[in-house]
Amino acid sequence: MLPTTNELGYYEIRLESIGGLGANVAGKILAEAGVVGSELNALNFASYGSEKKGTPVKSYIRFAPKEKQIRINSPVVKPHLVAIFHENMVNTNPVTQGLQKDGIVILNTSKDVYAARDFLKLASGTVAVIDAIKIALEQKTRINMVMLGAIVKMLGFISLDSVKELVKEAFEKKYPQTIPSNLAGLEAGYSEVKSKYFEYDGKYPYVEYQEERRPIGYKNAPIGGTIIEYANTITKNNITSRVGKIPIFIKEKCIHCGLCETTCPDYVFVWDRFLENGKPKMFNLGPDYQYCKGCLRCVDVCPSGALVEGIEREHDIEKISAKHDFDVYEKWYEDGENS
Ligand code: SF4
Ligand code: SF4
Repeated sequence: MLPTTNELGYYEIRLESIGGLGANVAGKILAEAGVVGSELNALNFASYGSEKKGTPVKSYIRFAPKEKQIRINSPVVKPHLVAIFHENMVNTNPVTQGLQKDGIVILNTSKDVYAARDFLKLASGTVAVIDAIKIALEQKTRINMVMLGAIVKMLGFISLDSVKELVKEAFEKKYPQTIPSNLAGLEAGYSEVKSKYFEYDGKYPYVEYQEERRPIGYKNAPIGGTIIEYANTITKNNITSRVGKIPIFIKEKCIHCGLCETTCPDYVFVWDRFLENGKPKMFNLGPDYQYCKGCLRCVDVCPSGALVEGIEREHDIEKISAKHDFDVYEKWYEDGENS
């Protein structure tokens, strides 16, 4: 039984995520679980741009009673439930817009429900929080499994057992070894999600759905096109590509061998030249985290232990980040150092 429906008779869900976190798979499993385990009709599809890791992805799920056909497959603009897979999206995308006034938001965060409500600036409705990154790291699973567990719990009309069966089916052929950890993540998401209902108190306004108007379109896009979202070709900001881990640089151990530089796919490391014994030498100043996607390949190759794996939220990124200064190269050329 659906707890509520819109004027068309549907219960609608929007998953707000970024490429690489698995929202698409989560949406598919959720819709299928509604059909096989809860005798509902369901429809699911996703929308994403360049299929680049780190760019925004939306997955939509529409449920209806089994006797009702689902005849529309347009994006969900007034969802009953929104699940936000990456906290940083809240500052960069209108992730809660159009949410029903008594709707549910599930946020992947370490914040409590009160801080999460303020962070989301939610007018009213239920705020649910789950530390999906922490659980995923502990259980060696992916964020989508933890979020899926939390969504199932908050929905209340989808059977967890059906979802478990579908998770097994989804992974048994290609990745059977991941099934136990995925099920553990799913169960942890289900049991650890916390929620609170907030009445409308005038603290924040409702955010109506607005059709997206992009600043760059076919008329003014540069030749070859450009992606203007996070992880894009202009700002090259990769913060939403990271899912909890970063390389930590221990300056004293660095021998400036350059292996991290040649391994890093995003030229994250900042170098500068200083004199050593009267001769100029390049010194590694550490990662500029704006460009880092957290793949940790640099940690694997560092021969001196100067790069170690760290949990992002345990560090103040702004404080520990080196900063690229691209003008420095111009200066070197002006100085004639490279001529
Ligand atoms: S690989 Fe390690 S030792 Fe070599 S430059 Fe990078 S951080 Fe320094
Ligand atoms: S984790 Fe290391 S190799 Fe990967 S993007 Fe960041 S700095 Fe580069």
